[in-house]
Amino acid sequence: MMQSKTILNVYPDIDILMNEPLSKYTHTLTGGPADILAFPRSIKECQQLLDYANENHLPITVIGNASNLIVKDGGIRGLTMILTKIKKITSHENLVVAESGAALIDVTKAAQANSLTGLEFAAGIPGSVGGAVYMNAGAYGGDIENVVTGAEVLTPDNHILHLNHKQLDFGYRHSSVQDHHQIVLSATFALTTGIAEKIQKQMDHLNALRAAKQPLDLPSCGSVFKRPAGHFAGKLIHDAGLQGFQIGGAQVSMKHAGFIVNVDHATATDYLNVIAHVQKTVYDQFQVHLETEVRIIGEDPKQD
Ligand SMILES: Cc1cc2nc3c(=O)[nH]c(=O)nc-3n(C[C@H](O)[C@H](O)[C@H](O)COP(=O)(O)OP(=O)(O)OC[C@H]3O[C@@H](n4cnc5c(N)ncnc54)[C@H](O)[C@@H]3O)c2cc1C
Repeated sequence: MMQSKTILNVYPDIDILMNEPLSKYTHTLTGGPADILAFPRSIKECQQLLDYANENHLPITVIGNASNLIVKDGGIRGLTMILTKIKKITSHENLVVAESGAALIDVTKAAQANSLTGLEFAAGIPGSVGGAVYMNAGAYGGDIENVVTGAEVLTPDNHILHLNHKQLDFGYRHSSVQDHHQIVLSATFALTTGIAEKIQKQMDHLNALRAAKQPLDLPSCGSVFKRPAGHFAGKLIHDAGLQGFQIGGAQVSMKHAGFIVNVDHATATDYLNVIAHVQKTVYDQFQVHLETEVRIIGEDPKQD
């Protein structure tokens, strides 16, 4: 409690909420409270918050659009930052530079407006630039690693580093940012000159495919599981007869077996229970382990 008062006094100009339910921000509409939830508007504010956390030995959690996240119902201790207010996008020649909190979808729109092709695959990925770099997000044959040439990151000891493509060490849903606990501040996208109408047509086409296959009308966190080598997670889940399986308000989607949708006031615990059941059932039937793609963070709720 003492710390809570302190941070509000130390940084009266930064938007900070105490004991704020993260279910208000996650795409699954689930998750417990953040002790301290800050919305920095600039890299300077981000650095001030990081200094504060380091000085007070508070754990730091960074969130973008919360579209690939399950926050456990016990919430997150320490300082949590949501970066969606740091969102400038600029374009010069074939480059687009976007700050971490910019919506990836807005970056695809900026690229299209500047007749730049290469980012159409991301037109429907509902994450932020920071989350997309962190996850090496991808769809329809494209991945962030194909278009991002470098990123500016903040190290845990509060230094700004410029990482080139090699240093980002991209892999399937992986980047080096994960290993070094860095905060992505911005990313540079190198694209190719194209025809604006053609780019728009391709984005519309991919978004139509997405709408036909994915349960976009219900809260979810996208594909819950990574693609296991030699298989498709959705097919294994479908073949195991798990579509429609439900615990509490969390249900394996009838429309896309790789999604778990919030159909009735689900909790994060409901999500985790469905995930565990799906993993066990698929393993028992096919001896394939489904690893989660969704990031699971925070603490379990306290038992009474
Ligand atoms: C309907 C739907 C469809 C989706 N389709 C796709 C798809 O086609 N392809 C795909 O790859 N994903 C997809 N996703 C998942 C998600 O959109 C991506 O993983 C996205 O990249 C996550 O970005 P985010 O900003 O929401 O990250 P968050 O969910 O906020 O965070 C995810 C992880 O990234 C970390 N992180 C976020 N921002 C930063 C930062 N600035 N610095 C350091 N770490 C950070 C967080 O700590 C967390 O570990 C989908 C999700 C939904 C809900």
